[in-house]
Amino acid sequence: MSIESIVSQQKAAFSDGRTRSIKARKSMLKQLRMLISTHEKDLCDAIKQDFGKPYIESYVTEIYTLLDEIDYHLKNIYGWMKAESVGGPIVTFPSKNVIYKQPKGTVLIIGAWNYPVHLSLMPLIGAISAGNTVILKPSELAPVTSVKLKELFERYFKPDVITIVEGGADITTELLSQSFNHIFFTGSTRVGKIVMKAASENLTPVTLELGGKSPAIVFDDANIDVSANRIWWGKTINAGQTCVAPDFVLIHMSKKEAFIEASTNALSAFFKNDYHIGHNYTAIINHDHFERLRELISKSNVIYGGDSNRDTRFIEPTIVDATWDDDIMQEEIFGPLLPIITYDDEKEISSQLNKLPSPLALYMFTESKEKQEFVIQHVPFGGGCVNDTISHLSNPNLPFGGAGFSGMGAYHGKYSFDTFSRQQGVLKKPSWPDPDVRYPPYNDLTLSIFKRLFTK
Ligand code: NAD
Repeated sequence: MSIESIVSQQKAAFSDGRTRSIKARKSMLKQLRMLISTHEKDLCDAIKQDFGKPYIESYVTEIYTLLDEIDYHLKNIYGWMKAESVGGPIVTFPSKNVIYKQPKGTVLIIGAWNYPVHLSLMPLIGAISAGNTVILKPSELAPVTSVKLKELFERYFKPDVITIVEGGADITTELLSQSFNHIFFTGSTRVGKIVMKAASENLTPVTLELGGKSPAIVFDDANIDVSANRIWWGKTINAGQTCVAPDFVLIHMSKKEAFIEASTNALSAFFKNDYHIGHNYTAIINHDHFERLRELISKSNVIYGGDSNRDTRFIEPTIVDATWDDDIMQEEIFGPLLPIITYDDEKEISSQLNKLPSPLALYMFTESKEKQEFVIQHVPFGGGCVNDTISHLSNPNLPFGGAGFSGMGAYHGKYSFDTFSRQQGVLKKPSWPDPDVRYPPYNDLTLSIFKRLFTK
């Protein structure tokens, strides 16, 4: 079936209202839950075939997070959907004022490869609970997972309600030429701009979940061992191919050596210098990205690690001594390389970070509330953690999204529901009273009555 036909089939299904009722939404969420839990192993195997992600990592970051999100939506959807009564100013008296939460219609979700199940299905949960029909395009760079998702969705859902469309840039371009009611894109800033330009043709609202260089700031009062453990935990999950992985460390110069020592201890404890793709470590997604990372290593001042294997696309966790001008500091790394940059004066932190595009995440390691607040108030970033990395995105009460070049809009929990809903304000007035003074012709008396009644 052509893409145009899929879109019109979905629009017809949306118009006949089959996805709107709470019963329909809950039943689709339950169906999705069943798909994921029944085929948890198949999905994890597919991801492993694509880039060797260990089963436990896939289970925690792709399966568990989705099941948890579905349960959260099932528990809260009634309250989120409910029309909300609000007050009104005296000028509208007497009236009732209501905000309806309308589904947007037929929406497009475009996924990225690095968490190929999570990043496709997490926004899908919000799109379903908001009552939309959905076309979902997983990333072509995780092809086994993409095929598996298509096969499972064809078994579990009618195509006029949810359709998986597979393909690369050409298919995405064709999809983007259609008129959708919302486009939810996860991927690079470069492609995010293409998506937004295409969406502007139909004035389609967009959510852009993009990337960037997320800093981990280690202050002089930080617990260095804990900082190293948590930064390397965030950097080695998925071999650093995580949008919110700490990209680089900005550390007080007096703590640099201690941090390097704590880092080598953390890595030895995590992996015992014995890396096994598919068991305790993940491969780089493809040879292009492998070569890109190899080149960054070759241009860097490596102080630990640097090993690699082209056949298995293995890149060792690597510590790099860096300056702001180095190649490794120019773009998002998206791999297990950790540049360390030092600061002397805390004023440098905000002045340097404000020269970079706003990152998706920011992490700070300090016991000082003052230092935390200073960074939060002076450096724009999507979201982040104090004394941890990555875990902010596991809380559905926190909005997850970027700032500036790392994206726009947010999702997770109610933020997902709101992203895929349209708020519709309706003022409901009784037919009586209907005073003449409201209608033309106006005169000085009308104005003086208006001023006396309404102007404070
Ligand atoms: P990408 O931008 O290359 O691809 C994302 C999607 O865009 C894919 O489905 C792809 O088919 C499509 N695409 C690629 N080129 C296109 C083109 N020219 N025209 C139209 N569509 C095109 O990103 P990626 O390599 O899959 O993912 C890595 C990036 O995504 C990183 O920057 C990472 O930080 C970011 N990311 C962000 C989040 C988040 O939640 N904010 C999550 C994961 C990844």
